[in-house]
Amino acid sequence: MYKNNCYVRNHSFARTPKGIVIHSTGANNPKLARYVQPYSGQTEGTAYIDSSGVSVAKTASQMITLLGKHTGSNDWNKPQPEGIPKCVSAFIGKMADSTVATVQTLLWDCNVWGSGEGPKGSCNGTHIQFECCEDACTDAGYFAKIWDEALALLAHLCNLYGLSASAVVSHKEAYDLGFGSNHGDIDAWFTKQGSAMAKFRAAVAAKITKRG
Ligand SMILES: [Zn+2]
Repeated sequence: MYKNNCYVRNHSFARTPKGIVIHSTGANNPKLARYVQPYSGQTEGTAYIDSSGVSVAKTASQMITLLGKHTGSNDWNKPQPEGIPKCVSAFIGKMADSTVATVQTLLWDCNVWGSGEGPKGSCNGTHIQFECCEDACTDAGYFAKIWDEALALLAHLCNLYGLSASAVVSHKEAYDLGFGSNHGDIDAWFTKQGSAMAKFRAAVAAKITKRG
């Protein structure tokens, strides 16, 4: 998201991530295209990691073919309003072919604008943060795919930065700890699907262990 002012202002201040915050969007639109679009003619940062882990450069139009085309103008790859600036490290949702996938939108070591501030500070300068694109939160099949994709991403990031599962928190938990704004995500979606962050963290811990 080279056009987002979060990237413009923060990408040169690299920091080592100390944890990860998981969010969900709070709006019924599971399509990645709603949030993530290349700008016209974008060439930097547009790549697709294929199933064997190889990075393949893509043009902006090829990225739109993969992600889908957003018909509105409110994707996040542009300057954000000063009052409610927002940008996260990645999104998980549906690509154009309805496959559930992760799209990285900032360098992992770039500060984000995701969880706001609480009385003790903010996770924005210390934590990788990603959004899961909500649907109506009643589709168990979609939720299961989000769960699996988020687990895979978290296992990868925990291994990459030597983090344990206890370093993974939801936006709601960040708020409860005094380091975030007053939001209920992603716990509200988990609750509707009969799950909880504690169960999710246990699954993350098991996946990290399995990967050695
Ligand atoms: Zn959130």
